[in-house]
Amino acid sequence: MNKITAPREVLVIMEKLRRAGHGAYLVGGCVRDSLLGKTPHDYDVTTDASPDRMKEVFRDDRTVETGIRHGTLTVISEGVPVEVTSFRIDGEYRDGRRPESVSFTTDIALDLSRRDFTVNAMAYSEESGLIDLFSGVRHLEEKKIVTVGDPDDRFSEDGLRVLRALRFASCLDFTVGEETAEAVRRSVPLLLRVSAERIRTELMKLLAGPGAERIARDFSGVVGASAGVSADAAAKAAGLFGKTEPDPLTRLALIYLSAGLSPREAGEKAAALKPSRAEKDAVVSALSAASAPMPTATPAVRRLVGGAGLGTVRRAAEIRSATGDPDAEKTARLAEEIVRRGDPVKISDLTVGGKEMIDALGVEGEKIGEILSRLLFLVTEDEVRNEPGELLAAAKQIIEKN
Ligand code: ATP
Ligand code: MG
Repeated sequence: MNKITAPREVLVIMEKLRRAGHGAYLVGGCVRDSLLGKTPHDYDVTTDASPDRMKEVFRDDRTVETGIRHGTLTVISEGVPVEVTSFRIDGEYRDGRRPESVSFTTDIALDLSRRDFTVNAMAYSEESGLIDLFSGVRHLEEKKIVTVGDPDDRFSEDGLRVLRALRFASCLDFTVGEETAEAVRRSVPLLLRVSAERIRTELMKLLAGPGAERIARDFSGVVGASAGVSADAAAKAAGLFGKTEPDPLTRLALIYLSAGLSPREAGEKAAALKPSRAEKDAVVSALSAASAPMPTATPAVRRLVGGAGLGTVRRAAEIRSATGDPDAEKTARLAEEIVRRGDPVKISDLTVGGKEMIDALGVEGEKIGEILSRLLFLVTEDEVRNEPGELLAAAKQIIEKN
C-alpha cells in the first residue's frame, strides 16, 4: 500500500492540535485514496478535542462554525478550508444529511466504528501510523466494500449506506462483500426512506464511476429503485452504459429511456430526485433531442448546437449511438468541430444585431427578430459570411423581397 501524506495546510492544522495536547488524524476518504495511490480530493481531520476545545485551539484562525453542532469546525488554513471533526458517536439518522443527535468521545475506536465501510474507517497520523481496526487494508487489497459491523444493522441506522456501498463499489471499481451485498439487496425499503437529495448525490456519483455498468446490472433492483424505475429498466440501461462516456446525466437519461418513459415523463421522474433545474433540463432536452434522428449535415448541426447547446447534442448523440443509431457519432463529431471553430450558431453570434437593423435599415418591432433569424439561417448554410457588410446587404434583400 502507498504512503500517506497531506498538503501543508492540513499538516499545519494537525500540528496545532498536537501542540495543544490533542491527537489529530487523517481519516476516511483521504486515507483510503492515499493507500490506493490516488490523489485525495479533500482531507478530513479527526481529533479527540471537543468542539469547544477546537474553537479555543483555532481562536486565532478564520473558522466557519456551520457544522459545529455535529462536531465539525471548518478552519481556513493558508487560505484553504479544512474540516476538523471531533471524535463522534452518532445517534439515529433521520432525514437529513447528518444524524439527529451526536455525542463526543475521546476514543478513536468509537469514532471509526460509526463509519460506514471498512475502507472508509481508517485513520492515520505520523505518530500512531495507520489505525485499521476493521481490516480496511485487507479489503482494499481484495477490492471489496464491506460494512463496519453487521450490514443489516448499519443499513437500518442509515438507509443511504445501501446506495453508498454501490457508489463506492462503482467509483473504486470494487466488488461488494458477499454478506454486505445480500443485505444491500434486501434493504431497498430502508434506502427509500432517505431524502431524495441524499439519494441523488450518491446515485450521480455511482453512475459516473468506472464500475457503473457492472453495478447497475448486478444490483439492478437497488439502482432502479434509486432512480424510481424497475430493476429491468436499470439492467437494460446498464447494457447501454458501456457505449457512452461516463456522464451521469446521460446514463440517468438512458435509465429513463429503458423504462419506456417519454422525455416529459422522464422529467417528472428526474424532478422527484430534487435535482437542480439545470440537471433536470439536461435530462429532458437530451431525451427530446434523441427522440428523432440526428442531423448529419453541417448547417443543420449548427442549428441544433445553437438551439440545444453542445452538452445536449453530445448527450443526445450518445443516447442515439447507444441505442443503435450509427449516424449519431457523426453528428457529435460535427458538433465538436463547429464549436471548436467557433462557427456562428446563435443570433447573438452574428456581427450585426437589433441596433444595426434599426439604425441602418429602419426595421422595427417583431421584424427585427425575424430578419436576424433569417440571417442566421443564411450564415449557417454558408450562403452569407458573418461580416457586417454582407449581413446588411442580405438583410436589405430580405426586406425588399417582402
Ligand atoms: P469521497 O472521496 O467521495 O468524498 P469519502 O470517503 O470522503 O469519499 P464522504 O461522503 O465525503 O466520503 O464521507 C466522509 C467519511 O465520513 C467517509 O469516508 C465515512 O468514513 C464517513 N461517512 C460519510 N457518510 C456516512 C454515513 N452515511 N454513514 C457512516 N459513515 C459515513
Ligand atoms: Mg469526502
